[in-house]
Amino acid sequence: MKADGALWNTHALAAADHRHLWHPFTQQQEWCGEEPLVIVSGSGATLADSHGRSYIDGNSSIWTNIHGHCHPRIVGAVSRQLSTLDHTSFLGTTHPLAIELASRLLALLPGSPLTRVFYSDNGSTAVEAALKMSLQYWQLRDQPERCRFVSFSNAYHGDTAGAASLGGIPTFFDRFAGLHFSVEHVADFTALEARVGGNDLAAVIIEPLIQGAAGMRLWPEGMLRSLREFCDRTGALLIFDEVMTGFGRTGSMFACQQEGVTPDLLCVAKGITGGVLPLAATMVTEKIYWAFLGTIGEQKTFYYGHSYTANPPACAAALASLDLFEEEKTLEILQKKIAYLARCLDALRSLPFVAEIRQCGFIAGIELMQDPEKNTPFSWQDQIGAKVCKAARSHGLLTRPVRDTIVLMPPLCTTEREIEIAVTAIFKAILEVC
Ligand SMILES: *Cc1c(COP(=O)(O)O)cnc(C)c1O
Repeated sequence: MKADGALWNTHALAAADHRHLWHPFTQQQEWCGEEPLVIVSGSGATLADSHGRSYIDGNSSIWTNIHGHCHPRIVGAVSRQLSTLDHTSFLGTTHPLAIELASRLLALLPGSPLTRVFYSDNGSTAVEAALKMSLQYWQLRDQPERCRFVSFSNAYHGDTAGAASLGGIPTFFDRFAGLHFSVEHVADFTALEARVGGNDLAAVIIEPLIQGAAGMRLWPEGMLRSLREFCDRTGALLIFDEVMTGFGRTGSMFACQQEGVTPDLLCVAKGITGGVLPLAATMVTEKIYWAFLGTIGEQKTFYYGHSYTANPPACAAALASLDLFEEEKTLEILQKKIAYLARCLDALRSLPFVAEIRQCGFIAGIELMQDPEKNTPFSWQDQIGAKVCKAARSHGLLTRPVRDTIVLMPPLCTTEREIEIAVTAIFKAILEVC
């Protein structure tokens, strides 16, 4: 319902969308062949469409939402900020909220060597900044030969050209491979160890604990500690991309805390504002920062930035989100929900075609296969994952698959009752489609 009580004219909206829009990661020919889902409002862990139906936001609106939609605490903070200072350039000025947010972000990792916050506005740019900082750092340290990166197979670090260089998913990234930074993709830690030397490496980058776009794939325990040792030994910088895992998603504020490892550069975005406004941060050590200091004439400046860097309403949302973590004891309460989610997911194990259920904190991936025994996937043209997610909609769950892995990672505020509805929706959808 709109404020005036009238329903939306879905048909007209669909026609206008089909006439003028181009959606991300979408085959438009297919998109324009059917009526789109028009989301018109959100509240808590649910979203409502133009027909008045509501859904549990099963992927937190592409991994961003933390405390629920339109949380009054965040809405209040953003609207107050909007009537005080909407935007000012961070290039040449500063503002109180960005200052406070930086110290509060760093305080989330007590005792870590990360001391500086560089803002940008999305996950890709947080990674892009980390890459350029790493390359320039080695140039400034008179080791320009350290210009290569290592990332992992099936990694996803964003879509801008630099961040895309690191991507290990061929369908997404092969097309532009010739235009990329120099990156070596390795399958696992053994492959990295087997590599000769390390004196040519600028940095190693990883999604800690779990690779998201790869299909919610978990790293073996100890992976981050091994990487830290490798980087300490070879001198390469270590970058953690916590764009998906940051802000409680894996059960701790940051995934890297679970192995007690800190990187040299830490990238965060998606959940930083509670999933309300775009904002990102690249946190770095004092050692890296110091290399960039000098007179203007020495040309050591980091020439990088975006117009909306440290956007004040986005900073206000981020501060309110951090307040909510304390006020609502989000992480404490989450531990029980994580255990409850695991119990609910167990019910899916008995279903045919369920090959593997992977869970990391409040993130789950349910992988479907034609023949789990023989490890035979469904043919990708069958789009089984997409079909299951579509069927789940009619049972009140909105989510997206990664190929044939059904993703379930609702906002951290999701109740046990809602978790149950979400998992039941997946159960019914698998039975209907497979
Ligand atoms: C989503 C994501 C990115 C890219 O973030 P955008 O805000 O979509 O540009 C980078 N790294 C990881 C791990 C992500 O999940």
